[in-house]
Amino acid sequence: MTTDRTEAAPTRRSVMDTLPCPRCRQPGLLTALYPDMWHGRSGQPVSGLKEAVLCAVCDRDEAAAQDMLALVDTDGQISPENTELFIRLAVAWVESARRHELDVAVLAEEEKHWRSGEL
Ligand SMILES: [Zn+2]
Repeated sequence: MTTDRTEAAPTRRSVMDTLPCPRCRQPGLLTALYPDMWHGRSGQPVSGLKEAVLCAVCDRDEAAAQDMLALVDTDGQISPENTELFIRLAVAWVESARRHELDVAVLAEEEKHWRSGEL
């Protein structure tokens, strides 16, 4: 299998480089990178990383994010005592963010069909 080399490779970030929220542009609390695959311009699959940014404003109504926000508000940092809890909550939050992104992709596709008159 070949990959589309025209796609930019994700850059490596340190833990300290938390991104601003892409929705409201306020400082993010946590940035997670997770593996993903998409199709490049040539139609070939491309593997890479996507980002999810935890935002105290935009994610306050998301159930999985609420647990992460509560942990950050309570402890303010990850310690040996809460590492296991942090990992468990982070995995649930990333899965929730990934599902939300997939729903947005389905919505965009349906919008395209609606605008073309297919629906
Ligand atoms: Zn936000």
